[in-house]
Amino acid sequence: MHSVVNLTVHGIGPVDRELDPDEDVFWVGVEQFEQVLDAAAGRRDVHITFDDGNASDVEIALPRLVERGLTAEFFVLAGRLGEPGRLDADGVRELMASGMRIGSHGWAHRDWRKLSTEQVRQETEDAHRVLGEITGHPVSRVAIPFGSYDAGVLGMLRRAKVTCAYTCDGGRARPGTWLQPRDSLRHDLDAAWIARVMDGTPSLPLRARRIAARTFKRLRR
Ligand SMILES: [Zn+2]
Repeated sequence: MHSVVNLTVHGIGPVDRELDPDEDVFWVGVEQFEQVLDAAAGRRDVHITFDDGNASDVEIALPRLVERGLTAEFFVLAGRLGEPGRLDADGVRELMASGMRIGSHGWAHRDWRKLSTEQVRQETEDAHRVLGEITGHPVSRVAIPFGSYDAGVLGMLRRAKVTCAYTCDGGRARPGTWLQPRDSLRHDLDAAWIARVMDGTPSLPLRARRIAARTFKRLRR
């Protein structure tokens, strides 16, 4: 496969908990979500991921994925399991049992560029251990909170033996590379957005800007 499109879903449908600042930008309606799934069905080059461990992962997304024969990867916040509006351990197991893959979104949705030593342990080791215990499988794939990374974050993830790290950099990805860009579903997504993200070739200036931004983030300290 030449390249893949990685999509990120956050919350879907009715909002049932207090949202973090700017989180509403990424919250989509059920119909918008179904439009995306219908476009993704049968496409081996579209990879769907979920961040934040919202209750809508199981309540809204799971039946619709299963209905269309789709699988997805869910990046869960280990320290927020069971909070109102979030997945709990049973929900994580239900996703697994339906053929979905579980990864880590860390512990408490912190910016990984600004962690204390103690928080580094919690966001990597502890999160992987707790999720591993729930799923019965080692967890080594992560989605970086807010897509915020620099050279220090990438070093931390390498030391934690992370095997794949998802960002929010946008644009198509080469399958199998360690750092994978993604495009987030947004509250204003429509058919044109779906066509552009899933099929469009971005303009040369946009591609050049993305490459420059990624290189800058990888190197900055
Ligand atoms: Zn997140």
